[in-house]
Amino acid sequence: MKVLKFGGSSIGDADKIRNVIGIVKSSIQKNKKIVLIFSAFYEVTDNLLKMSQKASEGNLVYEELFKKLEEKHISIAKELLAVKTQSSILAQLKLYLNELEDVLHGVFLVKEISPRTQDFILSFGERLSTYIISHILIDQNIACEFLDSRSLVKTDESFGTAKVEFNKTYDNIRTYFNKHKKLQVITGFIGSTDNNETTTLGRGGSDYTASIFAAALNAKEIEIWTDVDGVHTADPRKVKKAFPLKGLSYEEAMELSHFGAKVIHPPTMHPALDKKIPIRIKNTFNRDFKGTVINGHADRNNFQIKAISSIDDISLITIQGGGMVGVTGIAQRIFSALGAKQINIILITQASSEHSLCIAVMPKAAALAKKALQQEFYYEIKEKLIYDPVVETNLSIIAIVGENMRKTPGISGRIFQAMGKNGINIIAIAQGSSELNISAVISGNDETKALNALHDAFFLSITKTVNLYVVGTGLVGGTLLKQIANQTDYLAKEYLLNIKIIALANSKKMIFDSNSIDPSNWKEKLQREGYKTNLNSFIREMKKLNLPNSIFIDCTASDEVASRYKEILDSSISVVTPNKRANSGSFEYYQQLKQSALNHNVKFLYETNVGAGLPIISTLTDLVTSGDEILKIEGVMSGTLSYIFTSFTNDKTFSQIVKEAQEKGFTEPDPREDLNGMDVARKLLILARETGFSLELKNIKVENLVPLPARNAKSTKEFFIKLKKHDREFETKRKNAEAKGNVLRYIASLRNGKAKISLQEVNETHPFYSLSESDNIFALYTRQYKDRPIVVKGPGAGADVTASGVFADILRISNYLS
Ligand code: ADP
Ligand code: ASP
Ligand code: MG
Repeated sequence: MKVLKFGGSSIGDADKIRNVIGIVKSSIQKNKKIVLIFSAFYEVTDNLLKMSQKASEGNLVYEELFKKLEEKHISIAKELLAVKTQSSILAQLKLYLNELEDVLHGVFLVKEISPRTQDFILSFGERLSTYIISHILIDQNIACEFLDSRSLVKTDESFGTAKVEFNKTYDNIRTYFNKHKKLQVITGFIGSTDNNETTTLGRGGSDYTASIFAAALNAKEIEIWTDVDGVHTADPRKVKKAFPLKGLSYEEAMELSHFGAKVIHPPTMHPALDKKIPIRIKNTFNRDFKGTVINGHADRNNFQIKAISSIDDISLITIQGGGMVGVTGIAQRIFSALGAKQINIILITQASSEHSLCIAVMPKAAALAKKALQQEFYYEIKEKLIYDPVVETNLSIIAIVGENMRKTPGISGRIFQAMGKNGINIIAIAQGSSELNISAVISGNDETKALNALHDAFFLSITKTVNLYVVGTGLVGGTLLKQIANQTDYLAKEYLLNIKIIALANSKKMIFDSNSIDPSNWKEKLQREGYKTNLNSFIREMKKLNLPNSIFIDCTASDEVASRYKEILDSSISVVTPNKRANSGSFEYYQQLKQSALNHNVKFLYETNVGAGLPIISTLTDLVTSGDEILKIEGVMSGTLSYIFTSFTNDKTFSQIVKEAQEKGFTEPDPREDLNGMDVARKLLILARETGFSLELKNIKVENLVPLPARNAKSTKEFFIKLKKHDREFETKRKNAEAKGNVLRYIASLRNGKAKISLQEVNETHPFYSLSESDNIFALYTRQYKDRPIVVKGPGAGADVTASGVFADILRISNYLS
């Protein structure tokens, strides 16, 4: 015999019920005998709760909710029942519904609902659904009988989560089944007391009913039919990468469901375990898939853990004080005080100092629990041996479950690492003594992020995902997206790195897609679906999504965007940027950004701030962190000025060369922005700070190459006219240099904390003598590289190399991820 249970998710509408009837028919053909258990139709129990609540508040909205519920049942019955049987069944349904309406009206009048009445109201969900389905089956020539489980399942009087009296219940079931040989179609979830008052077995309790009937009847297997392919490594609604498990042990299933995996109701495992009956979770919408089997074996797979689950709203009560240290029986007293009030303790942890104890409970029990503890420890609180208990709310519990954990060291380390790298603070942590589970209490806002980060860490440690938020889609941003598009497949295949672009913004439009924006056609998508850019809402949305391994990429040159980095890093999101504005702003802000990244375990990378894609900042920081001492840094740090002076030979005047550079697009639209040296100054400032000097921009001595009269020219045209008048001065400088066999270079240098930028002559032996086109060059003189410096040379500007550098920073962060 097999017991088949269909949950509300499988019987949401007429089509889904048709599908279930198909499964029932094929099961009848395959098995000698089956028993069917049904939940209420989809969301009906929730709605019954809602309407009782409204009625008890004296709110007439309950009537509307009731009407909707009535309509849902009648329309399903009408659609699926044969016309000839319809009228008698509808008449019976009407009777049920009238009774329900009467009770609700009563609640409305007295403005109060007792747990007993609540259970009675809830029982209509299962009674209506099962009654309708049993008649649909009869209509389709399946000989069966409707069975209201209240007549057999006996419980105590704990309405809401009644305890089953197994001996009586099993006897009742066996006696009944001895007499009734037809297929039984049974209501899940409900039972009754010895006085025949209706009780319910706790939310999700239809699974339990199935297990109770299976145990009573010594069934061969229990099939729980639901809307997913089995028990997954995490709730597939919260973790997209979760995958179904082949099998797990009863204990593992119990732990998982206790900690929130709603796919199976926790007590379901007990009767099944007693009788060693396997429970198979199957998908009504993918019926050929084998699903997950829960039985006596912990199926040994290759992973360190089985699954991760979470409870999304708990309260934590902390009780602490010196009076607890070394005193025996405190935990015992807490348990009994809370037990006496029927408060379910989800988790309890004690600091090794014994100074404090944390207890997690459901939020609705928190106030009562606090009161119970205040009463129990009245004397100790009065004597200040123990502080008044403190309640924290809006927390979640994450539980990592699996029998493989027992013998595997390093699990907690991995949990801490995955959470830490995503800036998730662990408020309390507990390990079950069986080592079957480790649970952590965290802020409710971090739940999905924690689930995904842990899932990646334990199941997909080989595949990493980074989530990118790109602001600025101009030359550099656009090129970066192109490069990502070209490399996505390669990185996924060779490096098991999954790059997702979650959001894009340019100055006009922005767009979010948590499934990832295809980098090969982002333009169309942004054009089509984008909405008006607003930096505040971009940042707000990014924080709200709270995805693990998030990187904010600023490809703008904007001060406004740069001013938001701190807030972004503080939200545990890494920042990568070629934008120099933040690092060359105030030293205080620069330091704050470093500290925020450190505090939140994220990265702030900006290799492209200096020398575009050339590895300058990383080389410098590697030298500094490995203990080398930087003696001097010299460089030609502007591609534009490099071009101007390498092209400045005897056949052209200085202004002609500047003009030529402007025409080739090597300068800013107004070349004065290059010639004034401020861009180089910002770069030198960043290098100085990286070396350890707390300089400000004003501390850098800059030789401004724009001749004084040309500085306030009103237009670039006027600027060129004025510049021309100074060609002779530049020519003299060039000739003087040439006479000595030297060339002119615009050199930035840092020595003993002094930063200066000036036009200098260098001779043939100098590393900067032979430079071509717009190359940058950097010479790092250190204690270890004193006589012959480390020289880095190459193109120091351009969209391609800059975007590559940004991409390299993204990959650097990805490598750091676990
Ligand atoms: P039913 O109505 O069939 O009883 P439920 O909604 O009670 O269905 O349970 C199925 C749901 O459980 C799934 O849709 C899924 O979102 C949720 N769930 C939570 N954790 C898990 C998990 N680890 N594996 C599978 N499903 C899970
Ligand atoms: N209908 C009940 C509930 O929603 C029982 C169940 O679905 O298992 O809680
Ligand atoms: Mg369920």
